[in-house]
Amino acid sequence: MSTTIGFVGLGNMGTPMARRLIDAGATVRGFDVSTDARDRLAALGGTAADSAGEAARGADVVILMLPSSDVVDSVAEELLADDVLGGGCLVIDMSSSEPLRTRDLAARVTATGASFADAPVSGGVGGAESGRLTVMLGTDETDRERAHDVLSPLGRVVDCGPVGAGHAMKALNNLLSATHLWATGEAIEAGARFGLDPAVMVDVINGSSGRSGSTDNKWPNFVLTGTYDSGFGLRLMLKDMRIATTLAAQVGLPSRLGEQAVSLWDEAAHALPTDADHTRVAEWIATRPTDGETDGRED
Ligand code: NAD
Repeated sequence: MSTTIGFVGLGNMGTPMARRLIDAGATVRGFDVSTDARDRLAALGGTAADSAGEAARGADVVILMLPSSDVVDSVAEELLADDVLGGGCLVIDMSSSEPLRTRDLAARVTATGASFADAPVSGGVGGAESGRLTVMLGTDETDRERAHDVLSPLGRVVDCGPVGAGHAMKALNNLLSATHLWATGEAIEAGARFGLDPAVMVDVINGSSGRSGSTDNKWPNFVLTGTYDSGFGLRLMLKDMRIATTLAAQVGLPSRLGEQAVSLWDEAAHALPTDADHTRVAEWIATRPTDGETDGRED
C-alpha cells in the first residue's frame, strides 16, 4: 500500500492497528497526547508527529481512533481550523462515536472538499493485533473502494450503509455484548453459589444455546483467568451502551432491557476504578452488595 496515513489516537487499539498498516506498506504519521504512545509508534516504524495537524497535513487518509465523539470533534476542529485537510484526503473515524454527531462532522469535513467515512471496529486488542477485526464501514459510494483498500489489512470490512451507519451498528453491537456479559456474570455466579464449577459452566454454555461472545471469549480469556485485561475500558463500554439506547429512543423504540443494562453498568462504573477493564463487571457482580446492603456510595 503506497498510502500516507495520518493516524490520531494511538491507544490500546490505535497502536496495533497502526502497526498493521505499517506492515502493509503504508507510511504512517501518528499523533497521540501521550508521549509513550508516540514513542511506541516510532519504535514500530511509524513517524511520531507533534500534533494532530502535523500528522494529517498532506496525508492521503486520516484515521481517528479516539475515545469518544467529544474528542473526535475537538481534534477535527483543530484540523478544520488549520486548513489541514487536502481536497483528496479521506478522513475515517474508526472510534466508537455517536452516529448523529458523525453525520454533522461528515458535513463539515466534506464542505472542505475532503471525504469522510466512519469505520468502527469489533474484535478487541487481540483482533487488532492479528488483523481480524470486524470493520463496520459507513460511507458514500464514491469513497467505498478506497476505504476498503486502506482498511483491509485490519480485518473484514463490512459495508453497513451511508455515513453514520458504521457507528450505529457498532453501538448496537456493544449494547448486546454488554448485556450478554452482565447476564453471563449473574448466571455463573448463581451456578457457583449452587455448587457448579464456573469453568464447567462456560464449557457447557459454549456447546449450548446460552453461548455468546462473552462465554466464547471474555470468560475463558479474561474472567476465569482472573486477569481482567481485555484492553477495553469499562467506561468506554458504558459510553457505547448509552449511544445505542439514545439511538433506540431517537428512532422511537426505547430499549427497556438496554436502559436497565445501562443502569447496572453505571452502578459498576461508580464503584470500580476509572481505568477498570470492562470485564471487571463479572467480578463486581459476584461481590457487590445485594439488596438491603449498601456499597458505601452517598450519591
Ligand atoms: P484508549 O483509551 O486505549 O486509546 C485512546 C487514545 O486516544 C489514548 O492513547 C489517548 O491518549 C488518545 N487521545 C485522547 N485524546 C486525544 C487527543 N485530543 N488527541 C490525540 N490523542 C488523544 O482507547 P482504545 O481502547 O484504544 O479505544 C479507542 C476507540 O476504539 C474508542 O472509541 C473505543 O470505544 C473503541 N474500541 C475499543 C476496543 C477495545 O477493545 N479497546 C474495541 C473496539 C472499539
